[in-house]
Amino acid sequence: MAVTAEHTTWCFIDGDYVEEADSHFPNVSPVDGRPVSRVAAAGRSLVDRAVGAARRAFDGPWGAMGVPERAELLRRIARRIEERADDLARAEVADTGKPWAQAREFEVGRAAANFAAFADVIASAGLDSYLTDLPDGGQALNYAVRKPLGVVAVIVPWNLPLLLLTWKVAPALACGNTVVVKPSEETPSSAALLAEILAEAGVPDGVYNVVHGFGPGSAGELLTTHPGVDGITFTGESGTGAAIMRAAAARVRPVSFELGGKNAAVVFDDAELARTVDGLARSVFTNTGQVCLCTERVYVQRGVFDEVVAGLADAAKRLRPGRPEDPLTTTGPLISLAHREKVLSYLDQAKADGAEVVTGGDVPALGGALDAGAWLEPTLWTGLDHGSRVLREEVFGPVAALVPFDTEEEAVALANDTDYGLAAAVWTTDLERGHRVAHRMRAGMSWVNTWYLRDLRSPFGGAGLSGIGREGGAHSLAFYSEPTNVCVRL
Ligand code: NAD
Repeated sequence: MAVTAEHTTWCFIDGDYVEEADSHFPNVSPVDGRPVSRVAAAGRSLVDRAVGAARRAFDGPWGAMGVPERAELLRRIARRIEERADDLARAEVADTGKPWAQAREFEVGRAAANFAAFADVIASAGLDSYLTDLPDGGQALNYAVRKPLGVVAVIVPWNLPLLLLTWKVAPALACGNTVVVKPSEETPSSAALLAEILAEAGVPDGVYNVVHGFGPGSAGELLTTHPGVDGITFTGESGTGAAIMRAAAARVRPVSFELGGKNAAVVFDDAELARTVDGLARSVFTNTGQVCLCTERVYVQRGVFDEVVAGLADAAKRLRPGRPEDPLTTTGPLISLAHREKVLSYLDQAKADGAEVVTGGDVPALGGALDAGAWLEPTLWTGLDHGSRVLREEVFGPVAALVPFDTEEEAVALANDTDYGLAAAVWTTDLERGHRVAHRMRAGMSWVNTWYLRDLRSPFGGAGLSGIGREGGAHSLAFYSEPTNVCVRL
C-alpha cells in the first residue's frame, strides 16, 4: 500500500481493502498542505459489513484459538512491524509531518513493543481460583476462565496514531477479541497499512477491520451506536468521550477512555536544574506538544523560577522546524490548520489575560511551501492568573505557562486545581519529597525526575476528565476480557 496523492486509502474489511465508499475526503500534509491521499469514508453499509466480518471471525476459529498460539501470532506481528518499519514511518510522517526519526524510532518502535509486550502478558496471566469450604464439610472449587468481549470498536486520535492504535489492538487481540478500528480522519494511513502487515503475519480475515471517516454522524458514531459492538475503547478528547459514553449507555457496553490532560510539572528549588530543564523541554515540546501527557502547566519554586524560565526558553529557541526527512529537523507542525486556529485562540486568550510571552507566540515565516503548513512557534508564558482559561483547558500545542510557588503545600494545591487528572511530573533531588508529592498528585500517572518513561505492564489512564479505567499489562486484560467463574461441587 503506497501513500501518495494519487492513492486512495480504502477501508479494510474481512481481509481486503474494499474499493467502495460512501464518500471521499482529502488527507493533506500539515507540513505544506500538499495532498497525501484521498480517503474512502465508510457509511452505514460499510460499518455494518465491518462489524459483521468481525463477528463472523470471532465466532470462527479465531475465537477458539489457544493462548500460546495467539501469543506467538502477536510476536510475529511485532517482528513484521519491525521489518516494515520504514513503510509505517512513511505513512505516519505523510499524515502528521513529524520528524522522520520520531516516527521511526518512537512510534513504530513502540507499535512493535506493544504487540511483544501483550504476547508476554497474555502468556503469563493468571486467574482466580478458590477452594471453598462448605458448612456440610464438603468443598467446592471456584475458578475463573477468561472470555473475550467479542467485537471491540477501537477509536483513536491523530497525535500518535500508530502507537495509540496498537496500544489497544494488541491487548484486544491477545484476549481473543476481533476489532473494528476507526482511525482519526487526519491520520488514516498507518491504520490502513497495519491491516496489510497483520495479514502478512497471519492474522485471519475479519479479525482486524478498518473503517475511515469522521466522528458525529459518520463512521465513528455509526460504530459506537452499532448493536453488534460489544465494547468500545477510545482515546481522544474528553468531550468526545462524553458523547461516546452516551452512545454506549443505551446497550450498557463497557468503555475504556483515555482522554485529555492539563498536566502539571512541579519544580522544587533543590532540583538538578540542567536535567530538569531538559526533561521539561521534552515534556512541553515533544510531538509539538501534541501528546496527551505533555506538560502545559509548570509550577516552579520561586528561588529558581527565573533560571528555569530562561533555560526552557533557550530550549524552545533551539528547536528546529523543517521538513520531516531533514535529519536536522527536531520539531514538526501542528496536525492541521484547523487545529492551529484552536491553539492560536489560546495565544490570543493568554495575551488578553495579561500573560507575558517569554518566547514564541506567532506563526513562523519558514519560507517557501512550508508557509502553507500548520507551523507554530513554541510558546512560553508567565504572569497568567490561575483562573485563566489558558491554565484550565487543554491547548494541545507547543505551549506552557510557568507559575511561581513558595511552599510544597501551595504547589500541590495548584497542580491539583484542575478538572483533568492524567499525568504529573515532580522535579526534586529530595527523594522523600518526590514520593510524597507524587502520591498527592490527582493524576493517573506521576513521574519523579523524568517524563513519559513507560513500563508497558504498569497502569495507564486518568482521573476526572482524563478518562475511565486503566490499560497496561494485566489492567488491559481486565478491560478486553471478562473473567467468568465456574463453581464445581466436589
Ligand atoms: P477527538 O476526540 O476529536 O477524536 C478522536 C477520535 O474520535 C477520532 O477518530 C474521531 O473521528 C472520533 N470521534 C470524534 N467524535 C466522535 C463521536 N461522536 N463518536 C465516535 N467517534 C468520534 O480527539 P483528537 O483531536 O483526534 O485527539 C486529541 C485528543 O486526544 C486530546 O484531547 C488528547 O489529550 C487526547 N489523547 C489522550 C490520550 C490518553 O492516553 N489519555 C492519548 C492521546 C490523545
